[in-house]
Amino acid sequence: MIVVMQDAAGEKHIQHVIERMVELGFNVHRTTGETQTILAGVGSPDHFEIAEFKMLSGVHDAYRISSPYKLAGRNFRPEGTRIRFQNGVVIGGEQVILMAGPCSVESREQILTSAKQVKAAGAQFLRGGAFKPRSSPYSFQGMGLDGLKLLQEVGQQTGLLVITEVMEISQIELMLPYIDCFQVGARNMQNFNLLRELGHVRKPVLLKRGIAATIEEVLLSAEYILSGGNYELMLCERGVRTFETYTRNTMDISAIPVLKKLTHLPVFGDPSHGVGIREFVPAMAMASVAAGADGLLMEMHPNPDKAMSDGAQSLYPAQLTELVNKLRGIAAVVGRSIV
Ligand code: PEP
Ligand code: MN
Repeated sequence: MIVVMQDAAGEKHIQHVIERMVELGFNVHRTTGETQTILAGVGSPDHFEIAEFKMLSGVHDAYRISSPYKLAGRNFRPEGTRIRFQNGVVIGGEQVILMAGPCSVESREQILTSAKQVKAAGAQFLRGGAFKPRSSPYSFQGMGLDGLKLLQEVGQQTGLLVITEVMEISQIELMLPYIDCFQVGARNMQNFNLLRELGHVRKPVLLKRGIAATIEEVLLSAEYILSGGNYELMLCERGVRTFETYTRNTMDISAIPVLKKLTHLPVFGDPSHGVGIREFVPAMAMASVAAGADGLLMEMHPNPDKAMSDGAQSLYPAQLTELVNKLRGIAAVVGRSIV
């Protein structure tokens, strides 16, 4: 940490700041210039808040120099994290991984048809919500346990891995036998109790960015899961809320290369929630791969016009197939591949 004192700061204020730094466990190195004093705190105390130092009397500004997310930071594993699944699928390698399917599991027929279609298009994972976080309590809430059972059944039938959203701690145990990967949704990115519990399971987790979360907040949420010992974690950019209302969210494509630089964790793009309008989903999917995404999470429905949730952003099956073909070309340009 660096603390820059105000030009007029007196010795009393300087000593007070030094005492507080020492109390927290920093080794303090003082540089007294002609007008300004600078205090460099070396060490990494467990608990300190930069905001506290900015507010101390006589302080001009204070900066963190080490990252607040130790386990999520790129330095922790410079070569990058690879997550291996039992059928040989690897996330975080050269291959760009595709997860696709409807927003919600609606019936056996709907999810089985979806699974066959996404498999044919080239996906490795089937997505589908069994427990749905809906903005309105009157909207379809998901099929629950029956939905989990259907996901497992059609996953096994088609050879697809399955990913579904976990909304609360009590669902973790329930879901474990049926799924291959947990999805933490945007609305739960800062449900810290849920994140802590997911740190204790030994099953991969895809953590989505919150609708108003900064990149640092995403990484700190990741830290909750990693610090529990679960290193099989990936992040997902799914659009953030801005002043723009034409699109459902504003897909922050720049978050993809930024996260790839800051963390060793694989990074996904979700162009469906990212833009919210079917017509623009392919462009955002291609942009995500061009930006370095390790995978995509996309909504496709056999009959989007009749979907029980997110039909407007769900691709038609033929559109997904056409998109994946284009994505292969984009992946090749950036040194990746899509099988
Ligand atoms: C979803 O994937 O269907 C979903 C609810 O996503 P998000 O949490 O990003 O809104
Ligand atoms: Mn959805």
